Amino acid sequence: MYHVSVEIKRIYLNKGEVKLMKKYYCPTCKKEVEVLEACGSSSYFCNNCKKLISSKAILEEQDLEEEKVQNEE
Ligand SMILES: [Zn+2]
Repeated sequence: MYHVSVEIKRIYLNKGEVKLMKKYYCPTCKKEVEVLEACGSSSYFCNNCKKLISSKAILEEQDLEEEKVQNEE
């Protein structure tokens, strides 16, 4: 049976807001990337590849699971 687990980190900001952070993965090495937020837009940096990844290329947890399923077929 196929099961997708999604972990969500909750970051409590000092204003009392709760920010939900999804995990993102590098399309090249499939490692978790660092999310850098600046001026309302997000950038993604892979510490393994040492490069920035565009938001179009970035993989979400869901994308990663789909890719695994495709590989199994
Ligand atoms: Zn990478």
